Amino acid sequence: MCVKKILLKNLHIINPCSDHALVENAYVAIYGDTIESVSSGEPAGEFDAVHDLCGKIALPGMINAHHHLYSALAVGMPLPKNNPRNFNEILEQVWWKMDLALDRESTQACFEAGLVESLKAGTTTIIDHHCSPSYIEGSLSLLAETSENFGLNISTAFEISDRNGQEKFEASLQENIDALSKFSGNQHVHPMLGLHASFTLSDLSLRKIRDSLGKLKSWGIHSHVSEDKADETDALKKGFNSVLERLEEFDLLNENGLIIHGLHIKDSDLELIQKHDSKFVHNPSSNANNRVGITPNQNLLKLKSGLGTDGMQSNMLREAKEGMLIRSSHLEGGKDSVDYMELLFKNNAEIASNLFSGSIGGSIKLGYILPEYQADLAIFDYLPRTPISESTIFGNIFFGLNSLPSDVMTRGEFRIRDYQLLEVSEEEIKANAIEQSKNLWSKFN
Ligand SMILES: [Zn+2]
Repeated sequence: MCVKKILLKNLHIINPCSDHALVENAYVAIYGDTIESVSSGEPAGEFDAVHDLCGKIALPGMINAHHHLYSALAVGMPLPKNNPRNFNEILEQVWWKMDLALDRESTQACFEAGLVESLKAGTTTIIDHHCSPSYIEGSLSLLAETSENFGLNISTAFEISDRNGQEKFEASLQENIDALSKFSGNQHVHPMLGLHASFTLSDLSLRKIRDSLGKLKSWGIHSHVSEDKADETDALKKGFNSVLERLEEFDLLNENGLIIHGLHIKDSDLELIQKHDSKFVHNPSSNANNRVGITPNQNLLKLKSGLGTDGMQSNMLREAKEGMLIRSSHLEGGKDSVDYMELLFKNNAEIASNLFSGSIGGSIKLGYILPEYQADLAIFDYLPRTPISESTIFGNIFFGLNSLPSDVMTRGEFRIRDYQLLEVSEEEIKANAIEQSKNLWSKFN
């Protein structure tokens, strides 16, 4: 197959939190799926195609460091008659009913609807945490195939849990193990080992999970940790000082692992994460919605936290802005906040590049519009009302840029051009999602 070389011109490039934060009137040369050069002058050479972006603004394709695509059909679903009183009741009365009702068809509809929303928002890499206990075998392969149809990068993980009995525990574990074997070496799929959370896994189960990894290479857990205090209380009851100490005891922490939430961790837990070089992901809109507390500033800063949405949404710019506002509402005047631009653009890029490189044992660069990075771009038709300079990037992105991208490119190919999806039919996907939601909701109502 002939590898195409294309040129994008007349584009203003923004790489937030980097040494190349702004390149005005840029030319971007792309060879296959990789950026070859970013320059202010026209590069020499022949191109198969030249695209004039007419002065639009490009951000790197964004990364969602923790998502639940399976919750895409939860929008508008019937809620329990009585308001859940705490985090466990939210899980039992809402999410565990919904995930158990998912079959193959509704799961696929969730994947498609969630991926469309992601792509349309310029989110081009998704680190997903999947759960469909009534449809386990083959679900991660379906996720990988569906993501491939959209040209997106996907990290797979099936939430292993004891809560649905031994058979489903075994099948979920096997689904993760199969994905770890099947997708190792795939540049666009990064398989992880999904654990729901410490409090729904017994000691015996954790031991079984660890033993089953055998000689598999580059595995890493993707687990909710200390999202609510109840997770820590459960670990104490089981005889451990904390959830993270429990995971370490079962030899489940390493540099490929993702620790999600961590709202109630102690300083000694923070040191454990640093010792194992595990990655940490903050999900502000979900935490606010579930009323589980607020992650301390120091945890986000010391652990170079990434940013995820925990299934709440697929728009990362919106998540970052909401995170910033939620945190500000808890701070007194004059107190320092957290730079959400850094979480979204710098830390997520580092986390995703590390993970996806780990699957192939090579080097994949994601999250910047710079040479050698994968050509994933979110391009906005944005007319600024104040000059864009390195010092005004933050204001323009968080307070000026309110629309979806007009064009989205992944792996050097346009997937959206002038707001139109090129390879999939949004109408068909949405129509199917509406049918599937009705079926799904009827099962648990
Ligand atoms: Zn989650």
